[in-house]
Amino acid sequence: MRTRKVPLRKCVACQEMMPKKELIRVVRTPAEEVQIDLTGKKAGRGAYLCGKVSCFKLAKKSKALDRALKAPVGEHIYDQLERDFVAAQEQFNALKELAGHEAE
Ligand SMILES: [Zn+2]
Repeated sequence: MRTRKVPLRKCVACQEMMPKKELIRVVRTPAEEVQIDLTGKKAGRGAYLCGKVSCFKLAKKSKALDRALKAPVGEHIYDQLERDFVAAQEQFNALKELAGHEAE
């Protein structure tokens, strides 16, 4: 018998370990673009944030994404990401709720 392990990832801002699907992935693509990746499947180096705007703000302030993605993330990229993050967060939470109901 195999037990199914939930893959855990660490939020780069608050350092909390969480199930992967509770986190929002930020990816640095091979084209050096930094984007929010809601599918979690985009190619590139990924960093995870829990779906909280407060964590995004913390990551921005501490430049946690620069470290996690091993690349400098410009201020304007953070601003862009923040807008995407807020939009994504709503979508993300809706999806999570949906998934939660399905699992019940
Ligand atoms: Zn967090």
